[in-house]
Amino acid sequence: MACHCWKETNRQDLKSYEIASSRLGSVLMKSSEENMPELPEVEYTARQLRHAIIDTTIQDALVFWERSIGHPSLPDFLAEIANRRILGVRRRGKFLVMDLEGDLLLTIHRRMSGNLLLLPPGWQVDTSLHETDPAAWDRKGPTFCQGEIPCTQFDPETAYCRVCFNLVDGRRLLFTDPRKFGRIELWPREREAEALENLGPEPLSAEFTVERLVHSLAGRRGAIKQVLLSQHVIAGLGNIYADEALFYAGIHPLRRADTLTPDEVRRLHEGIVAVLTLGIEHGGTSFNEYRDLWGEAGDNYNHVRVYHQQGRPCVRCGTPVERIVVGQRGTHFCPNCQRLLPIRPAERS
Ligand SMILES: [Zn+2]
Repeated sequence: MACHCWKETNRQDLKSYEIASSRLGSVLMKSSEENMPELPEVEYTARQLRHAIIDTTIQDALVFWERSIGHPSLPDFLAEIANRRILGVRRRGKFLVMDLEGDLLLTIHRRMSGNLLLLPPGWQVDTSLHETDPAAWDRKGPTFCQGEIPCTQFDPETAYCRVCFNLVDGRRLLFTDPRKFGRIELWPREREAEALENLGPEPLSAEFTVERLVHSLAGRRGAIKQVLLSQHVIAGLGNIYADEALFYAGIHPLRRADTLTPDEVRRLHEGIVAVLTLGIEHGGTSFNEYRDLWGEAGDNYNHVRVYHQQGRPCVRCGTPVERIVVGQRGTHFCPNCQRLLPIRPAERS
């Protein structure tokens, strides 16, 4: 896999940054559905960032779209972020969290289309569009280029930049977000729970046990698919991996959450951990705008079993995968492997 080799090279030699063309274009899929980055995509980015930017200092930030900053006010944000050393990078749920000097947390929630991109030193930012075409500026933001200002070449990878963090070593960390739903916030450490919206347990941590999942599902009369998407039940699980985990466990997405048997909950727990772990190994799932730190698309799309596979034969039994809508989210399952009603005795072999 060319992509993996390329990523390996980057991990080994973090100085050789490059803006890559989307060489995994074949896995990209235009989708009418809205799929935000989930736990594996955010985790993968956090790991890349951790290697690349810990111990460097944010010189200042340029904000090109004011509403991308959710907290505090823009003037306070700009004043507080300047000259802060980055002490740590981690993930909590779907939030990317940077621990900054001075007991501050920088949280980044990418929502539908937000991405982080790290530029090596030497890139210029051209904001002339702001003056020449304000409407286009609101849509596209500035242009980044390696040569002289004004930029002569448009680089689609750096388009739609909403916030740019200038690092003291000359690199720039860009937050690009075509759809503008992403939010960046700065909070004092003592307000972390509030900043992270009181998330539930991390599914890949020791606190996420079968017992905890049993407890979370008890008394929940909603469809299991919908319950799994609640960030208070499990932090970081979203549409893709909820569908995959239910397929893994052989549970119909419309099953009432509080009717799962102990064995089903145990399989579901195993499935959640398995599909998320695999998703991280594959660098995340790219369906639309998601890219990693170096502009690459993750390749987990080649490994999903049911997500967006409607009409294709189930990998286990060959029955065509179906798509239904649960809680306004497209939901994919095998009607044979994931039955809503118990299998009648006559059907058992
Ligand atoms: Zn099947």
